[in-house]
Amino acid sequence: MTELQGLRAIVTGGASGIGLATAQLLAERGASVAVLDLDPAGVAAPLTGLRADVCDDASVRSAVQQAAETLGGIDILVNNAGIGAAGTVEDNPDEQWHRVLDVNVLGIVRTTRAALPHLRASEHAAIVNTCSIAATAGLPQRALYSASKGAVLSLTLAMAADHVREGIRVNCVNPGTVDTPWVGRLLDAADDPAAERAALSARQPHGRLVSAEEVAAAVAYLASPLAGSTTGTSLAVDGGMAGLRLRPV
Ligand code: NAD
Repeated sequence: MTELQGLRAIVTGGASGIGLATAQLLAERGASVAVLDLDPAGVAAPLTGLRADVCDDASVRSAVQQAAETLGGIDILVNNAGIGAAGTVEDNPDEQWHRVLDVNVLGIVRTTRAALPHLRASEHAAIVNTCSIAATAGLPQRALYSASKGAVLSLTLAMAADHVREGIRVNCVNPGTVDTPWVGRLLDAADDPAAERAALSARQPHGRLVSAEEVAAAVAYLASPLAGSTTGTSLAVDGGMAGLRLRPV
């Protein structure tokens, strides 16, 4: 499939997991892709790896400018960088709330602000934010993470409204439990990682973890001109968790 031929894309948090799978798929489908990440050392050609911290405005501006110069413009922005947090409202101090909201929410604001002038010059401008089922599921032990992703969902809708007349589409994907290094680290911390993985898989409606490639395929669609009339929406990639009104417990 070459529906992204000639388009130029930025993927934040693109050195691992969902972001890496997305960057690779966008490139396979014809896009030139720059990955912005805290640690882009492992990012290989044809992807361009650029160091950026989405919590640092100057770093984001500089990397977005560098990406635009290297790629010759920006058509697609995938705001994917994110971090997790476990616990109830009693479990995280204010500093941790500020930290997670800074990465997961303000990170999107900073990167979008830097990319908008370039997106306005594009014929096929699209932003895709990585949200989560946590935005609407009411997950136990995920108060801070859920609040951050709830904000990503609202921000997606507000940005879609603000930029629809400029021809910039804004959508998000809502992954369920995805088999990435992040989830791998959580499983590795269990007494019996293999048993924990099996139990986690069994709790998914379709009996397995979502793959990063499945999320990437949803992002690639929303980013492509084939989705030219789709904006202000969220696409679940969760094995049916949200659509079937199931709860991950
Ligand atoms: P991951 O840890 O495998 O990859 C995250 C990447 O983001 C890493 O390369 C990391 O270096 C980068 N990153 C982190 N903080 C950054 C910062 N301040 N600036 C720049 N880059 C930064 O994680 P993943 O599982 O692929 O998750 C990616 C996104 O998907 C996140 O937004 C996460 O909330 C979301 N998500 C993940 C799951 C899941 O089950 N894995 C489910 C729903 C949503």
